[in-house]
Amino acid sequence: MSNEHNQRAIHVIGSTEDGIARAIHVDISNKGRASQFHIATPETVHGLVARLIADPDEQTIFFLPDFQTLDGIQAIKEVRSIIRSERKDLFLVLASPTSGVSPEEQYFTALEIMKSNHANLALAYDDKTGLNMVVVPEEAYYGQTADRSETLNWLIKIALARAGETFTRSNVIAAPPVSWMAPEVSENFRQVVDHLVAHGAYKKFRGKTAGHFAIRGMQQGEFLTSRRNHDFNRLSDIGLVRVFAQGRDEVVAHGSKPSVGGQSQRIIFDQHPELSNIVHFHSPLRPDARDVIPVQEQWPFECGSHQCGQNTANGLREVRPGIYAVMLENHGPNIVFGNDIPANQVIDLINCNFNLTAKTGYVPNDGFQNVPVLALQ
Ligand SMILES: [Zn+2]
Repeated sequence: MSNEHNQRAIHVIGSTEDGIARAIHVDISNKGRASQFHIATPETVHGLVARLIADPDEQTIFFLPDFQTLDGIQAIKEVRSIIRSERKDLFLVLASPTSGVSPEEQYFTALEIMKSNHANLALAYDDKTGLNMVVVPEEAYYGQTADRSETLNWLIKIALARAGETFTRSNVIAAPPVSWMAPEVSENFRQVVDHLVAHGAYKKFRGKTAGHFAIRGMQQGEFLTSRRNHDFNRLSDIGLVRVFAQGRDEVVAHGSKPSVGGQSQRIIFDQHPELSNIVHFHSPLRPDARDVIPVQEQWPFECGSHQCGQNTANGLREVRPGIYAVMLENHGPNIVFGNDIPANQVIDLINCNFNLTAKTGYVPNDGFQNVPVLALQ
């Protein structure tokens, strides 16, 4: 972490009666990190956030007001939706309070609040059950416990690690998608991804699937990758997106945004010239995994950041001849292989080590058929 990263301004926004915001402020201050604690009211919270957004410095915002009035709840909804739509470089933590819901509903409510507001983390707490958890955008949770101070430790640890990570800009130019059946999509790659789809490895949330996959293109820096914010169960309709890496920080994408995994894909292709296919999905390791799959921590890394990509590339090992793998803990595996590796060898490695019907994080009882899209806006 750079020095500049450590000096990033941290704002904790909460109301006086809210012990959570105060506890976070005290903890961050005790760590020697510069933070400010804002006690906002529904009337002043708009102006406060407008001021923070207007400040060009990079900042971390813990937006945790707990206004109980209707006006207050409305103010929270309005303000939290503005922050990241105006400033993608700000790191945003949101609160997801519930009252007497199941752990599963608590988790999905937090995931919905985080994703619909493009936030980076959510703190879920339930005033009746007393359960707390930190929900992360890669669709998993940490620190699920009735001991709120332990959950807050996780929240602060993850936020301080992830804030300031760097992302690739994608510059989208008009072009059609690459057909899933195009000759440049190699047969072994297509068979492996079709196997993952057929066995439920890509489970929808809010109509979209997490995970990603990519194949190396013919030209330097070119690859064909999965499309962001789509449903991979409809690959024959949606196809792939062609991207060209332009240095470390930018890709030119033909037709639509590439998967958030674009950066880890670029780093892996750069570091492994002999490999040309990457698949990533959010399934856990089997308890009876046949091979020794290396495991890398995920909690310090936001999925899709350069740091996440480097962490993934660092963990990759050749698990069977010509097939490399790494398990990102509490997240899912990356499996990388060459065009000369028969699909059935890759599929056998996947089946022997990963449970495709399960998912990291929560799986609803109906297997994601019916996750409600809550009306939060
Ligand atoms: Zn992922």
